[in-house]
Amino acid sequence: MAFGGFGEPHQDLMSRLGNLSALIVLAIDGFLPEEQGGEVTLDGAGRVRLSYDIGEPVWEALREGSKALARIHLAAGAESAFSAHEDAVEMRGEGDVERLDRAPWEKLRLGVFTAHCMGGCAMGRDPERSVVSSQLRMHGMDNIWVVDGSVFPTSLGVNPQLSIFGLAHWAAEHIVPQVR
Ligand SMILES: Cc1cc2nc3c(=O)[nH]c(=O)nc-3n(C[C@H](O)[C@H](O)[C@H](O)COP(=O)(O)OP(=O)(O)OC[C@H]3O[C@@H](n4cnc5c(N)ncnc54)[C@H](O)[C@@H]3O)c2cc1C
Repeated sequence: MAFGGFGEPHQDLMSRLGNLSALIVLAIDGFLPEEQGGEVTLDGAGRVRLSYDIGEPVWEALREGSKALARIHLAAGAESAFSAHEDAVEMRGEGDVERLDRAPWEKLRLGVFTAHCMGGCAMGRDPERSVVSSQLRMHGMDNIWVVDGSVFPTSLGVNPQLSIFGLAHWAAEHIVPQVR
């Protein structure tokens, strides 16, 4: 899904999938309050509208991270490395990596996605701004606990599985005795 292109170029890439390796840049947004998150709204016809701005620090992280990933691939012996742009930048050696500086770091020109969505049922003290307490119990309810990646106050910005395992382990010890 992350590979760009349509039709024959895309099919060509897919036919070589067995010889491809993909690395992704994890960029943390929300360094600045005005950069935090986006909006999901409904338009007049009831269709979903998504709005998500990407600030300059994130573009810079994606650009510099992509250079590092290209260098890792090339150092590991890759014949060529591609960026995730709609018009992918192909790099066959170190001399090509700087071409990423001239690539379009813009919305809809680059595949940008996340596999780490968190914070949907954020924990916190204030029921106006959070869903569960630090004990994972839903505010205002005695018998509902939430135990998954949604309770982090915001996205961690790093791979979350071990933290989620830790949370589940804590919950098993502390919540189960309360509901028996
Ligand atoms: C492509 C990809 C790669 C990733 N790579 C990594 C990685 O390398 N390292 C890492 O740490 N993290 C990685 N992650 C992130 C990590 O997998 C998730 O953050 C984590 O699995 C979330 O755990 P969770 O328990 O909150 O949710 P999930 O694992 O999504 O579990 C939710 C469960 O609830 C079930 N469910 C949903 N609705 C209902 C319902 N109504 N009734 C009953 N059950 C329901 C679902 O079937 C699912 O089993 C990756 C994620 C993706 C998508």
